[in-house]
Formats: sequence, structure tokens, C-alpha cells
Amino acid sequence: MNGGSSGAAGMPDRQPWHALGVDETVARMETRPDGLTNAEAVQRLKTYGSNVIPRGKGDTALDLIWRQVNNPLIWVLIVSALVAMAVDPTGGVKNGLVILAVVVLNTIIGFVQEFKAGKAIEALSRMVPENVSALREGRKLTLPAADLVPGDMVLLASGDKVPADMRLIQLRNLQIEEAALTGESVPTEKRLAPVASEAGIGDRTCMVFGGTLVTYGTGTAVVVETGARTELGRISTMLRETTDLQTPLTKALAKIGWYITIAIVVIAIGILLLGTWRTMAETGVEWLPALRETVIFAIALAVGAIPEGLPAIVTIALAIGVQRMATRRAVVRKLPAVETLGSTTVICSDKTGTLTRNEMTVQELWTPASGAFAVSGVGYAPKGQLQREGTLVKTAPADLTDLLLAGVLCNDASLANEEGQWKIHGDPTEGALVVAAEKVALDVEKARAQHKRLDTIPFESENQFMATLHAQDGGRILLKGAPEAVLKRCATTPGGRVLDMEAVLREVEKLAAKGMRVLAFAAQPARGQTGIEMHDTQSGFTFLGLQGMIDPPRPEAIAAIALCHQAGITVKMITGDHQGTAQAIADQLNILPKNPAAPKAIAGAQLAQMSEVQLRDAAGACNVFARVAPEHKLGLVRALQSRNEVVAMTGDGVNDAPALKQANIGVAMGITGTSVSKEAAGIVLADDNFASIAAAVEEGRRVYDNLIKSLAFVLPTNLGLALILMWAVAFFPFADVTHVIDGVAHTMRELLMPMTPAQLLWINLVAAVALALPLAFEAKEPNVMRRPPRNPAAPVLSGFVVMRTFVVAILMTAGALGLFLYEFRAAGDSGPAALAKAQTMAVTTVIMFQIFYLLNCRSLRDSMLKIGVFSNKTVFVGIAAILVLQALFVYAPFMHEIFASAPLSAGDVLLSIVVGALILPVIGLEKWWRNRG
Ligand code: ATP
Repeated sequence: MNGGSSGAAGMPDRQPWHALGVDETVARMETRPDGLTNAEAVQRLKTYGSNVIPRGKGDTALDLIWRQVNNPLIWVLIVSALVAMAVDPTGGVKNGLVILAVVVLNTIIGFVQEFKAGKAIEALSRMVPENVSALREGRKLTLPAADLVPGDMVLLASGDKVPADMRLIQLRNLQIEEAALTGESVPTEKRLAPVASEAGIGDRTCMVFGGTLVTYGTGTAVVVETGARTELGRISTMLRETTDLQTPLTKALAKIGWYITIAIVVIAIGILLLGTWRTMAETGVEWLPALRETVIFAIALAVGAIPEGLPAIVTIALAIGVQRMATRRAVVRKLPAVETLGSTTVICSDKTGTLTRNEMTVQELWTPASGAFAVSGVGYAPKGQLQREGTLVKTAPADLTDLLLAGVLCNDASLANEEGQWKIHGDPTEGALVVAAEKVALDVEKARAQHKRLDTIPFESENQFMATLHAQDGGRILLKGAPEAVLKRCATTPGGRVLDMEAVLREVEKLAAKGMRVLAFAAQPARGQTGIEMHDTQSGFTFLGLQGMIDPPRPEAIAAIALCHQAGITVKMITGDHQGTAQAIADQLNILPKNPAAPKAIAGAQLAQMSEVQLRDAAGACNVFARVAPEHKLGLVRALQSRNEVVAMTGDGVNDAPALKQANIGVAMGITGTSVSKEAAGIVLADDNFASIAAAVEEGRRVYDNLIKSLAFVLPTNLGLALILMWAVAFFPFADVTHVIDGVAHTMRELLMPMTPAQLLWINLVAAVALALPLAFEAKEPNVMRRPPRNPAAPVLSGFVVMRTFVVAILMTAGALGLFLYEFRAAGDSGPAALAKAQTMAVTTVIMFQIFYLLNCRSLRDSMLKIGVFSNKTVFVGIAAILVLQALFVYAPFMHEIFASAPLSAGDVLLSIVVGALILPVIGLEKWWRNRG
């Protein structure tokens, strides 16, 4: 076997695949139209390797590092470090180095977090497997796309992603969107005829290429190249895949970062001016030395007020959210979806399979001549009986048998008993027809062998029918589909009588009102042809009858809908099914509007007639939309969005992609969804279940809550540290402080500094990160699904967070400064030990405040007692870690070296704990006051 010019295995003198005829290609690939044998496939997999494209390189390590450093706050830090080193060659160098060390540490933390988050999101894409339909040894199999080998025969249908480069050998109206390769988003119509050797990729109409999408029709193709040897594989090393970790929140935070930077620069200038002026006035020195002494305060302000740990906290909280959603069967494909989920106000869901079980059972049959029959039994076991008006029917009348026969012939599903369990292979709607026929004692295998199928027009949602051509009895075309689609093609009944359309429609309504999906069946003699085209199916059919099947609602969907209602989210059903069926199921699911005047169900065709204003009103008032085509879905999403709704929309078909993209969150189905819909979606449901959407909303709300908690925890510390410095520069006394420089004691009159830049960094980075991170693990608030959705336009920093920031910051400032002065005065002298001790006291007090405040931040509304003291153990791990670190800070000699800290007495530590605990009653009071209404 040799490839064409495009393959690595190819021989240059051979013609390329697209210039070869069908038979030549099949021969050269050493395969057959019914596929390879399993042994050949195994052998070829060994020779050619898996059909996977080596991933294009993502961001390089350098890109990631640069992203960490390229942040205004980090620039402020770097400049501060350089200034510190330049103005004060002795003490400043140490401060400068500590600041630079923090920059490096911060870069490493950010780098590791982003790298891990990127990997996690990348891994999620593998959770949604790509399967293909292929023929091996004449049998149709579902294989992982990675197992395809050259020579495999692959069956393509609309919605599929083409899994490898292939030569088409059979097709019906096949259209492929090749934007991934050619950039051309208009689908290309494919043909079988070979094209010129020199044709470009876009003109190779007899080929389909890996990574492109089937937008219409069906086809069979032989794989010619796999993995890295495909056209996409060859360019993918040039494509750089970036995992975008930006979300609205991270963008908002980046903006807040800028504001903080500007504020810091302005305040730093203020501090410089005020400090210089006070130093000149107090000590009588010139402005330059005075300025030099004050610079350290400005630097301390910069490092104290910058929330260095925040980016890492946000990334981690989002990554945790994504992972938790994955365990609850909602796979996030686009990170912003995590946040948007929390503000979703409307969920538009498909019916079949998402709200219902997609386990269809035929329960009623109807023919024009014999009337209604009931079939007993539920599920896929072919056990049940035929009844008429409550009495058993032993032998089915001929017209009923023909109806059931049409049901199994115009049908691609099969029924199998696997280890004692009856299973359907194929579409559940079609499976139900097979089960019904078996129950009424029709031998499906035999019938299918007798009535050999010559050609098929497959079911497409937009046509609403499927047609097949059979050889038996001089040839017959069978039609099955939605009653509207089938009836308009019928004129007669089997006896040759004129069809009483009214009577049939009444019967359809009756079945639909019971929540049944109704399929209609029809037939007409063939005219000796061996294939069928659309125009053969337009008219002249004989109506055979109806089959009505139930598909019960999922019990977990009923519960999830109730939860969504509590959470202020409206659930709307958008279905391709009949209006009556949709309404009956909606009633069982409790999604019909409470307002009796509101329309119960609207059909897609009605939507299409509406003006923009009418559509807007209808989209708001009605919760059930039936017989909806994909283009109506797009209109509905837009109409709902114009009502300021945040819309989550599910979809599985190839034509749903535009609506999925337009929705605030597109939700695709992991099992039954087409590749096209999955690529367009923000999240993919691993189990196709509505309940997973509700779970994802809950997780989304939790993530956002926890992010706000982290902000409410981190920001007061930064403001507090800034206030401490501002207060010190403005109001602190000057003291004669003795410094020992090169063994010589110098006494200088200077402005007392409550904390050095290195100490501020200690609080800000080590403590804040160790303490704020556990908040990302906080369980959901008890009322998370009992409050209305978050307004996406509301600012991240709500009035509440700002107020809380000020209250806590002021309390922290007062406590830390008070204890600093107390400790400094208690020392009785003003030597370096006194200053170090007082500064250590101030730092320890702030840390104690943080520990107690952390306990408060675990819930923004409820007291800790209400949410359970030990419900988040990570918080206590964080607190234990910080207590150990702080003990080192206070008592370890090497820490004294780095941070100029000093040991405290037990009494001092106790005092700092008592003062830190003051925050409990204050915030407790605040929570009580806010909860009182
Ligand atoms: P939902 O949108 O709620 O998931 P659906 O996607 O199953 O519903 P469609 O698949 O578009 O809806 O089906 C629309 C109609 O087409 C059905 O109500 C049924 O009458 C008919 N139909 C469904 N499946 C088949 C099939 N395999 N062959 C023929 N007709 C079908």
C-alpha cells in the first residue's frame, strides 16, 4: 500500500489521491468497500500509529512568564525595589532584594498556577471523546477516532467532524465546511469524480480532510492519511493553540489593578511630599536627605497596598470550579462560562434526551381502516401484547402488520440482547419501532432480509422525515416522519380511498395530548428505479397509519427544574416535537407559565411570522416552543437577550451551532451531540442531562461567591496596610532611634516606621495567599440556589465589598498602630531592639486580624456557626500553616535577619490575639444588621 503525493508514505511518481478514481483508491489502499478485517486494522495501527494530531505548541514558558510580569502592579514593585536600592545603599539593598524576591516568587506562583489551569482545561477537552462510524468486516462499528487506520471505511453524516483525510467513495448531497483548512466558511459541495492533480485543497472535491465538518448529507469514504500525515496534521505544528484563561472577572480585576496602581502612585507622591516636609520641619535637614528618608515609606506603601496574591487566587478558584463542574458532568470548554453560569436567568433546553429519558416505547397504533390499538409493556424488552379496547388481539390485521413492517424497514436501528439486557443500537425513536414490531410477533431480521433496501434518504431534522427504497414486490418507497411532513405527501389510504385528513389529524392531536411522540407512515410503489431522490418523495403516497410513543420525563430533570425556579431561573423547552406532545411533557415537568393568559406553546412556524416586537413578547411569555427549526432558535436567543436575559441554550444538531454561539452559554450534548455543536458550545454535558446544567449553575454561583469572598478578604488587608503607612507619615511622632551601622551606633531623629517594606510583603504575600486560598474551597452558601441570578452588569466591587473593606481596614489600622506605639513606649528606650519589637507586634496583630477575619469571610452573609465551623477543613490547614510561619517570623533567628523581626513575650502575643479577635463582634454585628430584613 502506498500513499499519494500528499502522504509521508507516498511515492512522488504516483498520482495524488484526489486525481484517482474510486476503485483505484480502494485498490491502492488494499481495502474493500465493506472495510478492513480486524486483523488488518490492528496491523495497520502498529505500522501507522494512532490517528492523533500532535498538539501544536501552546504558549511557551517565556510567554507565560512574561504574562506574570507584565502587570502594572508588578512594575510598581520592580521600580520600588530599584529606588530602594539606589537611595539607601545600606538598608535599602536588603529591602530591595526582598521585594525582588517577592516578584520572582509571585512570577513562579502565577506561572505554575496558569500552567496547571491550562493543562486542566486542555485535559477537559479529552473528556468528550470523538467517535466515528466505520465499517470493518462488513459491520458498522463505533470507534474512537484515534483508532482509525489508512484503509478504513468511514461513514459520515451531517454534524460529524471528519476524522482523517479520506477519499469519498459514495455520497448523498454531501457538504463540508472546510474553514479549519481553507478559511472558507461557506460549505463545499462534494463529488465523486477525480480532479486535476494540481488542484488546491479547496478544489479537491472528491476528498474530505481531517478537522473539517460535515454540514449536510451523508457519505462513505476511505481513509488515506491519518494523524500527523493529514493536511491538518501538517499545518497544526504551525498553529499555536492558546488556552485563554481570561474571563469577565479577570478582566474586571485587571482594570481594578490599574486603578489601584494609579491610586498608589498618587498616594506615594502625597506621602513623599508630606514626609519630606515633616522631616525637614522636625529635624532641620535639607530637602534631599529628608526626601531620601521618606522614600522608604513610599516604597512600603507600594508593596503593602498591591494585592500581589490576587491573580493566583483567582486562577485557582476558577480552576477548582472547572474541575468540580467536570465531576458534576458539565465539561467547561470556555472558561468565561464558569462565571456566566452564575448569572444565567433563562435556560432553553431541548426536550428529547435532556428533559426526557430518550427511552421511547410505542404505546399506541392507529390505521385508517382498523382504528386504534394499544401495545403494552415499557422499555426495550420486546415483551408485550397488542390490545384493542382492552381485549387481547391474537392476530394483527394486515394493515396493522404493514404499518409495523414500514416501521422496521424505514429504520436504521437494531435491537440486541447484551448480557440479559435489551439494548438499542441507533436512534431511540427508531428503536421503539423495532421493539413494537417484535412485540406483535414480526420477525424483524427476516423482514429486513426479504425487503432488501436499495437506497435511503436519511432523517434530517429540517425535513422531518426519512425515506427508503425497497426491492420487494416490484419496488416500494417507504416514508416515515412527523405527521405534518408525511400527510402532506399522501392522498389515499391502502384500500384506494381518499384520505380523511381531518380524522388523522384528530387522532394525532389525541396521541400528542397524552405526551406522545407521533410518527406517521406512508408508502408508494417505485417506478423501477434503483435510487431515490428528494423529488421522488414529494407526493402520491398512500397513508399507512400512526405510531405513538412515550418518552417519560427524567425524574432528576423535574427536581432540577424546581431548583432552577427557586433560583430565579426560567426554564423553557425548545423542541422539534409536536406542539401537543411538547405541551403535555412541559406540564409534567412543571414549566408552563403560572399566568393562565400566557400562551402554553408556540410553534416554530408561528415564530417565523412574528414581528420583532411580537417575538420579543412571545419569547418572554411562553415557555414551550414546538416544531422549532434551528433558525428559530437563533431568533429566540436574540429575542430573550433583547429582554436583558442571560441565556443558556442547549443544542445537539449541526444547525444549532449559530444559536449556541449567540447564547450567553451554549450547552452541547456529550453523548448525542454532533461535533459541530460541541465546538460551538461553552460547556458540554457529559450525560446529556438537564440536571447537569442546574448543577453547573450552582457551581458557577459558588465559584463567583468564593471569588468575592477572596476579594473581600484580601482587599481590606491592602487598604489597611496603606492606611497604616499614611497615618504614620501624617501623624506618627519622631523619635531618636539608635542604629548600629558597621559596629558604630548612630542616633538619628526620625519618623517612626510601623512596618518595613519586607514585613509588609510578608503580610501581604505569605499570609494573604495562605489564608485566602482556602476560601476557593469553601462549600456553597446554603441559599446559593434560593436567590435570584447575579446581575452581570453589577460591578465586581459592590457597595458591600467596598464598605466591608473600609470597616476592616480601619479596625486593622487602629489595632496595629495602637499596639505598635504601646510596645515601642513600653520598651522605655528607642534602640533598634525596641523598634524591631514594636514592628513585630504590629505585624503579628495584623496577622491575627487576618486569621479571625478569614473565619468571617467563609460566608458573606451567614455567621460561621450557621455554615458549620469545620465545614471547610482547608481553612484550618491555612490557619495552622500561617501560625507556624508567624511563629518562625517572631522567634526564628534567621527570620530576624531577613525581616528585622524580634521575639515577643507570651503576654504580647496574647494581647495581639485579643485585639485581632475584635473583628469578630464587629463583623458579626454587620452581618446581623444586613440579615435583619
Ligand atoms: P428535541 O428538539 O426536543 O430534542 P428532537 O430533536 O428529537 O426533539 P427532531 O429530531 O427534530 O426533534 O424530530 C422532529 C420530529 O421528526 C419528531 O417529532 C418526529 O415526528 C420526527 N422524527 C424524529 N426522529 C425521526 C426519525 N428517525 N425518522 C423519521 N422521523 C423522525
